[in-house]
Amino acid sequence: MLRLQPFELVQPESIGEVLQLLSTHAEHVRIISGGTDLVPNLKLGSIKGDVLVSLQRVDELKNLKEADTQLVIGAGVSLHTIATSKLVQGTVPVLADAVGKIASPQIRNMGTLGGNLCLDTRCRYINQSEFIRSSFGGCLKSDGDRCHVVPGGSLCVAALSSDSVPVLIALGADVDIIGPEGERTIPVEELYTKDGVAHIALSSDEVVVRARVPIPAAQTRITYRKWAVRKSIDFPLVSVAVRIDHIKGSPDILEDGRVVVGVLGPQPKILRLSSLQGQPINEEMAHKVAGIVSRRCTPLANVPYSEDYRKLRLAVEVKRAIRSLFI
Ligand SMILES: Cc1cc2nc3c(=O)[nH]c(=O)nc-3n(C[C@H](O)[C@H](O)[C@H](O)COP(=O)(O)OP(=O)(O)OC[C@H]3O[C@@H](n4cnc5c(N)ncnc54)[C@H](O)[C@@H]3O)c2cc1C
Ligand code: SF4
Repeated sequence: MLRLQPFELVQPESIGEVLQLLSTHAEHVRIISGGTDLVPNLKLGSIKGDVLVSLQRVDELKNLKEADTQLVIGAGVSLHTIATSKLVQGTVPVLADAVGKIASPQIRNMGTLGGNLCLDTRCRYINQSEFIRSSFGGCLKSDGDRCHVVPGGSLCVAALSSDSVPVLIALGADVDIIGPEGERTIPVEELYTKDGVAHIALSSDEVVVRARVPIPAAQTRITYRKWAVRKSIDFPLVSVAVRIDHIKGSPDILEDGRVVVGVLGPQPKILRLSSLQGQPINEEMAHKVAGIVSRRCTPLANVPYSEDYRKLRLAVEVKRAIRSLFI
């Protein structure tokens, strides 16, 4: 049985208090929101946390509203609320769909958008008990000095496995971050670094406050495809969001587009389709885009299932995504 090590839980009621707690508590302070990722990782001992600063009572983080041409979603809004909200379903249905594919109803009740954005990276060598990890001799992410996935590599390549992130990037969403220096806004893609040990580009005294999601225009179509062994509960082993913008008045001709692929390494891979501008959106384009994605994306042995299968599967999911949008 995996046991949780003792920790102190503090439950502030405002963002100001959260920031104060993060700056006064020194080492091993962690933000906890729904705890559905953090608690299992604490139990596995892959991360340490002596003081957990809970966001559960911070109502400021739980707003969900439409403002001008954006959907503004607080970091503390639950995955269940996003997946079932009439507002999200009516304005950005692809986000409700992707979030509705996360884990199970119980986990979506507890899990939050902030936690999904800041989800720890995953790897078959790290998501194991301490006992099993010690048999590999540790790794860069857990008391070791090498990577078992990329021997000789200097950076951890554990995978970003969040279901909301590829979609948010395809939508062109931003996140607002608050810290002791005030608030800043960055595109979602800039939240991630190349190092799976510290893949979130936040300092330990910063908090994600909300996501700002542009409501897609009529000529924009976006879909998300996830492949996992089981439809319920499982993290994605292949994930891809595809965005197609057609020329106004010519629904069959591509203006622009992008493909965002998850579960490769710590950062999502973004492929822009501007080189295909002016071409018809049809089966041939689905094949072309699948070919581009296949050439430029290399699944690693960081998550279960063979890399070759996942590469083939990714191409299939891209084709299915484009067909579902237009063909
Ligand atoms: C069995 C199981 C299946 C799962 N399946 C999926 C899946 O299919 N897809 C998927 O995407 N996820 C999955 N998850 C992971 C997890 O449940 C979700 O990603 C969830 O959204 C995490 O949110 P949380 O609020 O519980 O995060 P927490 O566990 O509270 O936090 C996760 C991380 O984010 C940090 N954090 C949280 N909020 C903030 C904030 N506002 N600012 C800065 N840092 C913050 C925490 O410090 C922690 O490092 C699964 C988990 C389990 C246990
Ligand atoms: S990718 Fe390498 S360093 Fe990172 S968790 Fe896996 S084995 Fe460890």
